[in-house]
Amino acid sequence: MLPLSLNTLGIYVSVPFCRSKCTYCNFASGVHSPALYQQYADRLCGEIAGLRRRAAEWGVEVPERVDSLYLGGGTPSLLPPHLLLQLGRALRGEFDVLKTAEITLECAPGQLPDQTLEAMLEIGVNRMSFGVQSFVDREAAATGRLHTRAIAVSDLRRVRRAGVRRVNVDLIAGLPYQTAASWQESLNTLMETEADHASVYMLEIDEDSRLGREMLAGGARYHAAAAPNEEQTADFYVSAVAQLERMGLRQYEISNFARVGSESRHNSKYWRRQPYLGFGVDAHSFLQRVAAGALRLTSAPSLDEYLAGAEGARELAELTPEEELEEAWFLGLRLRQGVRWSWLAERYGGGPAEASSGLAGPWRGRAPALQPFLPVVVELRRLGLLACQGDVVRLTQRGILLSNEVFARFLGVAAGAAAGVA
Ligand code: SF4
Repeated sequence: MLPLSLNTLGIYVSVPFCRSKCTYCNFASGVHSPALYQQYADRLCGEIAGLRRRAAEWGVEVPERVDSLYLGGGTPSLLPPHLLLQLGRALRGEFDVLKTAEITLECAPGQLPDQTLEAMLEIGVNRMSFGVQSFVDREAAATGRLHTRAIAVSDLRRVRRAGVRRVNVDLIAGLPYQTAASWQESLNTLMETEADHASVYMLEIDEDSRLGREMLAGGARYHAAAAPNEEQTADFYVSAVAQLERMGLRQYEISNFARVGSESRHNSKYWRRQPYLGFGVDAHSFLQRVAAGALRLTSAPSLDEYLAGAEGARELAELTPEEELEEAWFLGLRLRQGVRWSWLAERYGGGPAEASSGLAGPWRGRAPALQPFLPVVVELRRLGLLACQGDVVRLTQRGILLSNEVFARFLGVAAGAAAGVA
């Protein structure tokens, strides 16, 4: 895992434009008129330029040096070259983007003109993330993706030839028409592409996407009836984990796999609670305040609100020490390396631990702030959802499949204890 620092910053730029809306998508993206692209880029550049002034108002320290830049969305590769260059200039004008920075751009296969690729290279993009989701044409078409396998494979080769060595491929397990054989086909193709990073998600079934709603409420428009059930989807995911590991793509987070040294520096900041700034629609920021707790900020959730909003309009949440500790648990547990009691004690525990837990082994004597988490960990271990080894707590494979339920158990634990709730 790459070393991370509190002294460097990650920057995320949201570009919420897509050529078509995928049926499973629950992001704040949509199909908008290209006439809005310039207005949006100008608005982003204004937000970037005004950041330090607003940061002073929030009382936060914004690190000068940027070691990761991520243009996501949406489909940032839809922006015409001159707008990508405009954004690149605005970011480099305001921040010290390190020569070694990881600079990622998300792209949809078949939607990357040569001139766009050239502009990306000019602004320093050295990593690309392809939203493939499936290399099987029928599955891609059923979810509204506009690519075929041939187009996706050709684009992956093209960006490598152009000099982008680091490439991520997104796949989703659980799409309509997916079978064990077709999933294998997607995995085989992924391995043939020699991508150094893969993100494998299980389809989210919720009210926030058209496919999710149809799976919950019924209907025939989005092929929900052709989707594998949850058990099959979990089998596909487990099979992917095993096969990717054998191919050298090691699982380092629930949904993320990489060759050693190719882990996403940017996304790692989210799980390790390192500072990052988000610009644009529905972008999130996480910053440390001077001599106070951390801040989480959220920008306008839709394009209309973002374009109409006053500069700097953001939702602000000040984290209490208890919330920080709970976050450290459920974000840290996403990582394969797990969570270390000693590290939590050092950073959040408020001083050296006293031997008071009455528990054996590594749990003995945790810092007082960590005490309320002991019964939670013990219970989840008993259920086979967590494994404890020495000082480390991590998810088991079953815990990974039920991770949302596991994380929910950490919510409110410290806050409840601080309020005197048993
Ligand atoms: S391209 Fe990505 S962001 Fe756009 S609709 Fe599809 S999944 Fe959502």
